[in-house]
Amino acid sequence: MTEIRLTNTKTRKKEVFTPIDPENVRMYVCGPTVYDRAHIGNARPAIVFDVLYRLLRHVAPQNGWGKVTYVRNITDVEDKIIARAAERGISIDELTSTTERWYLDDMAALGVLPPDEAPHATDYIPQMVEMIANLIDKGHAYAAEGHVLFAVDSYAEYGRLSGRSVDDMIAGARVEVAPYKKNPMDFVLWKPATGDEPGWPSPWGKGRPGWHIECSAMAQAILGETFDIHGGGNDLMFPHHENEIAQSCCANKTDVMANVWLHNEMLQVEGKKMSKSLGNFFTVRDLLDKGVPGEVIRFVFLSTHYRKPMDWTEEKAREAERTLDHWATFLSVDHEVLEADIGGIAPDDGVIEALSDDLNTSLALTRLRQLGRRADNSPEFLSLSDKEQFSERLRFLATVEFLGLTLRERAREKRSQPRAASLERLELALAYERTAAKESKDFSQVDRLKTALVEAGVEVRMTKDSIELIPGPDFDPSKLEALG
Ligand code: AMP
Ligand code: ZN
Repeated sequence: MTEIRLTNTKTRKKEVFTPIDPENVRMYVCGPTVYDRAHIGNARPAIVFDVLYRLLRHVAPQNGWGKVTYVRNITDVEDKIIARAAERGISIDELTSTTERWYLDDMAALGVLPPDEAPHATDYIPQMVEMIANLIDKGHAYAAEGHVLFAVDSYAEYGRLSGRSVDDMIAGARVEVAPYKKNPMDFVLWKPATGDEPGWPSPWGKGRPGWHIECSAMAQAILGETFDIHGGGNDLMFPHHENEIAQSCCANKTDVMANVWLHNEMLQVEGKKMSKSLGNFFTVRDLLDKGVPGEVIRFVFLSTHYRKPMDWTEEKAREAERTLDHWATFLSVDHEVLEADIGGIAPDDGVIEALSDDLNTSLALTRLRQLGRRADNSPEFLSLSDKEQFSERLRFLATVEFLGLTLRERAREKRSQPRAASLERLELALAYERTAAKESKDFSQVDRLKTALVEAGVEVRMTKDSIELIPGPDFDPSKLEALG
């Protein structure tokens, strides 16, 4: 049994996670509105909840749970979509289907697994209409001028999730004042289609759903009235998630929509809020096209805990690249590890333990670094039998892949690069010499190697239990030939 603890926004406490129905662990995460490329901030919830999905699936068998159902919706009807399609002079279908494909490709490049279900809002219009009619019947919503609005005064719990009073919310939010609203906080469930805007028939005329009701209806249709986990970025806590709760709980007469609410903090770029005017706004695709590999991006994301604001910096990306490169280099010596099927190999317990404690991905990476350092020819590692070395490296690779990071291609490339291979040999040689020198107290061989490496433009990083050789800009492999 692996106990998972998660910080529930609803209670503001870290709680032990217990599924409502152990046969089916159910999670819903608000997905993208498909009108444009995913920006780098949008990748954060996708990665955070992908890690949670992987963890839930991993612990399910040992915890006696059945399946895990992860739903991440596609919002394919929304004002921004209509505006963008008009701007670009293309059909809404073309815009949403292209953007969705982009999104899935970009997320796949970041090692994000496809969710079990990715419902499109436009496929659930009848369920939305039914839910709205139900809310009107129960006195929680009213129709006015072709719109249907949710009456926030009818739900005493409104604001509970974000811990705000209705007055605070009015003061803090950009509330759209409209003549047909009884209370300025009332929000739209259905709005009329004007001109050639997309619309569906409804008891209130041709129109389209509001964004909030989309999630309530899709979550209910696929996961039921009450489910386990609901996630998203913390910018969605209010009003989107408050509104989802109000709609679902009022329509179903339940106290709870989801037991656990999880919110990731926002991402900034080089210490500043990302914005087009500051020129620090970029998409996942921009980074990939610039040559920053998906696993490097993912690594940077994993290095910050999801509940902390995260800063994207080029320095972090370089650091991540170096670490992955280093791991790839030492794995590249072992052809068998690289081609092994890791299907049955469990990831490292320490990493699972870190993730089980409120998804501590940064601690998981620290643990992975320790494992990497050990498997990189540490004296203890070298004292193991070949078989033990093989299985230790295999577990290391299985853990890397469990975290959604890819390393094999990088390692295979290293194998085909003689330059890296020669450094790899020297790393090994240095490790051996150092172990021997510790015994004999004669460090002259170690010093000779180090000096030659530095002269060839290689940075030598030695800590108590690791050795890292990093070719600098002036690296001259010919100077190493005599040593190799
Ligand atoms: P949107 O398409 O704007 O609804 O956003 C999709 C997801 O990305 C939501 O879960 C947002 O909370 C999340 N998100 C948007 N901007 C950021 C950001 N700067 N940092 C982290 N998450 C974000
Ligand atoms: Zn939602």
